[in-house]
Amino acid sequence: MTRTVAVVGAGVAGVGVADALRETDAAVTLFDKGRGISGRAATRRKHGCRYDHGANYIKPGEDAWVDDLLDELGTDGLADIEEPVWTHDADGTIAEGRDDESHKWTYVQGITQFAKRVRERADAPVHKSTRVESIDRDEDGWHLTDTDGEDYGPFDVLVLTPPAPQTADLLADTDWADDRLARLHDAVDAVPYRTIRTLVLHYPFELDRPWYALVNPDREHPVGWLSREECKPGHVPDGESLLVAQMSPGWSVDHYDDPAEDAAAAAADLVATLLDDDRLTEPDWVDSQGWRYALPDAAVDAEAARCAEDAGLFVAGDWVVGEGRVHRAFENGRTVGARVADHLA
Ligand SMILES: Cc1cc2nc3c(=O)[nH]c(=O)nc-3n(C[C@H](O)[C@H](O)[C@H](O)COP(=O)(O)OP(=O)(O)OC[C@H]3O[C@@H](n4cnc5c(N)ncnc54)[C@H](O)[C@@H]3O)c2cc1C
Repeated sequence: MTRTVAVVGAGVAGVGVADALRETDAAVTLFDKGRGISGRAATRRKHGCRYDHGANYIKPGEDAWVDDLLDELGTDGLADIEEPVWTHDADGTIAEGRDDESHKWTYVQGITQFAKRVRERADAPVHKSTRVESIDRDEDGWHLTDTDGEDYGPFDVLVLTPPAPQTADLLADTDWADDRLARLHDAVDAVPYRTIRTLVLHYPFELDRPWYALVNPDREHPVGWLSREECKPGHVPDGESLLVAQMSPGWSVDHYDDPAEDAAAAAADLVATLLDDDRLTEPDWVDSQGWRYALPDAAVDAEAARCAEDAGLFVAGDWVVGEGRVHRAFENGRTVGARVADHLA
């Protein structure tokens, strides 16, 4: 009989689970509350521009496995950002450095291509715009209910991949009379996350700088990260520039609920001062995204995270490894997927 696996979340960890199971006879179904897939490795299109407003690029992992994987997924549209990452400090002093000369991968079509290509090769169906609200377990397996009251299941295995606070909410809404549930919930609930508000600032002129991005290593400047999306092939038409400003966690929390125009105006002032260019106070259009759960600040307790695996309940994601990186989240998805395969064997 075909064994069934439900994966909540079609970010890179979720598609990593499906990828690990692609050569087994398990039937994997992904569920995502978003209209697309790829989670925080996100791309938007507006006014002829394309921009990655969550994860900026994919770093190569150790042992070149990321480069090999990207090769397997197809190099058509794969783009390596050539310009370096520089730094700025609390006083706004810009300096060379930090760039480790390694690849900075994205795609002409945007960073979401990575998850899209993985999902395609895994050939796993996705229920998009489907927010899972509650879970229950009976003798037949795991059942899911979405916010429209639609039921799915039973599934032999359930893998939860939303950011830890959202996974903790789902576990709080899980009906399963077993002590492992509380242990798992408490461990997941304890994972701290940083908040980042991303502001996108577009200008109808080119900005000539020697760097792709500035990062603020001392974390004392309100602009945590500033990148020039035009350094990515195919993202910004010639003669324009598009800045992606990821604001510091402190600034982001203070301004999280400000209207987009106000937050963008405040960010544009900070950016103009940082780059010493008054023209930057007046972008011709802006965009905004709040990432309440942007990056994990620690990893979940590893033993507690695996305590319900015997019962077919698994978790995966960047918070399981404790590092907010696309390649680490994907790698964790694949590792967890391999354990799911063992569980089903
Ligand atoms: C601003 C920002 C900048 C970053 N920069 C970089 C970078 O430059 N390089 C890098 O490597 N990494 C970067 N990261 C980190 C990287 O994006 C993440 O570590 C990685 O994408 C996490 O993948 P994931 O699959 O674990 O989680 P997610 O991408 O969060 O996927 C979880 C999915 O679960 C879905 N979901 C949540 N709740 C439910 C529910 N109830 N029902 C159904 N679906 C649900 C969500 O819609 C989401 O698609 C950045 C992140 C942010 C926010």
